[in-house]
Amino acid sequence: MEANNQKDDIPAISFTSVRKSYEQEGQTYDVLKDVTGDIKQGAIVAVLGPSGSGKSTLLSMCNLMKTPDHGEVKIYGKEVRDWNVNELRRTASLAFQSAPVLDGTVRDNLNLVQKLHQTQLYSPEELASLTGLSPELLDRSAKDLSGGQRQRLSLARTLANPSSILLLDEITSALDPVSALEIEELIKRQQQEKKMTVMWVTHNMEQAKRVADTIWFIADGRLLEIAETDTFFSHPQHEAAREFLKGGTR
Ligand code: ADP
Ligand code: MG
Repeated sequence: MEANNQKDDIPAISFTSVRKSYEQEGQTYDVLKDVTGDIKQGAIVAVLGPSGSGKSTLLSMCNLMKTPDHGEVKIYGKEVRDWNVNELRRTASLAFQSAPVLDGTVRDNLNLVQKLHQTQLYSPEELASLTGLSPELLDRSAKDLSGGQRQRLSLARTLANPSSILLLDEITSALDPVSALEIEELIKRQQQEKKMTVMWVTHNMEQAKRVADTIWFIADGRLLEIAETDTFFSHPQHEAAREFLKGGTR
């Protein structure tokens, strides 16, 4: 299925002067400070930066899990708040580290998401096989899965969604290196086959080098650098990026 029928020159994702603050105990914390940047269709962007720099917040604004206090987030040129939320989430789907599993079996979890999106792209068996979940797990209770198995289930649910934009938030953090590589390969294959756009938050620098064509470096709520992957790792422009790459501030 060709998920992407948008005009090619419109960015898949576009942030303009995006700000977000949280109030806590009477104090205001500015988590995103004027983030502006575009991700073109078919790109894989790795979003890097220290813990707490605002990466997850930025990602979760692309499918209305959160909304900006100021500025705009556009998906294929249309502001997220102008989208129908279900349609938006079919278009841009978010997989995250600690995605909750639903009651019922693994199979129930996989069937439900396809029901929600009114699609049947893959059978539960195919999804399990794609993501390296052993087929005998399909009839087990999803709540009994290990951390790594849950990550695979979360990714399987994301792939069951016919989206052309994948928003990935540290999806391999609970996996061993070999499994993480398998998942990377799977995503790259899917991305190429379906011409998807991927915004991929990761703490794993080697993973970023392998998967991304562009790096976004975020520190303290600011998007400090947008660079080609090789350029970012060989010639980071900001002191904060150099410190980060030395491993001091991850
Ligand atoms: P990252 O993904 O880069 O680690 P996050 O986007 O998760 O960063 O968080 C950025 C900052 O916003 C952190 O300091 C975090 O504590 C704060 N934060 C995130 N969500 C909330 C929330 N719902 N309420 C208050 N503070 C939050
Ligand atoms: Mg995060």
